[in-house]
Amino acid sequence: MTKVDFSSGVIEGPGIVTARRMLGELGGLFEDQEALAHLDPNTVVYETYSYPEPASGPPVLLAATTVLYPGRVGREAFMTRGHFHVDPTRGESCFTLRGSGLLLLRDRSGAEQRIQMTSGSLTIIDGRFAHRVANVGDEPLVFLVTWMSDCGHDYAGVSEWPRGSWSVSL
Ligand code: MN
Repeated sequence: MTKVDFSSGVIEGPGIVTARRMLGELGGLFEDQEALAHLDPNTVVYETYSYPEPASGPPVLLAATTVLYPGRVGREAFMTRGHFHVDPTRGESCFTLRGSGLLLLRDRSGAEQRIQMTSGSLTIIDGRFAHRVANVGDEPLVFLVTWMSDCGHDYAGVSEWPRGSWSVSL
């Protein structure tokens, strides 16, 4: 059996893969580079618990939790890296388990939506929109996402946007 702990966000079960993202590797996302320089690069920004991506075979449905910690760089809230799906017909569901956040959506024309995340909120993300999550509260933000393994992840399209143009200031 695979189980999700709604409070901690931890998924326990066969084959679950964990990853941890530190400020040092995400710092380029944030606008205030001077504030960043005063923070510990080993600060954990978020952790993920996910089903493993299949190396081959037909596409499968996958699920993961993210635990996004509260924090700021300057005035900007801690956030996930964000990405487009290479295949815009592949959406993603996003279900909030705990905490308070904003789901930031932006398409390739720059059209943007910001959707509140609170315990129990559910959003089906249109596959044409890049997606990123910011923690606007003072406790960990825990959410569960599901997606198809063949959606493809495009991080470059997001990184072309100027720093500070797709984030939340607190
Ligand atoms: Mn996605």
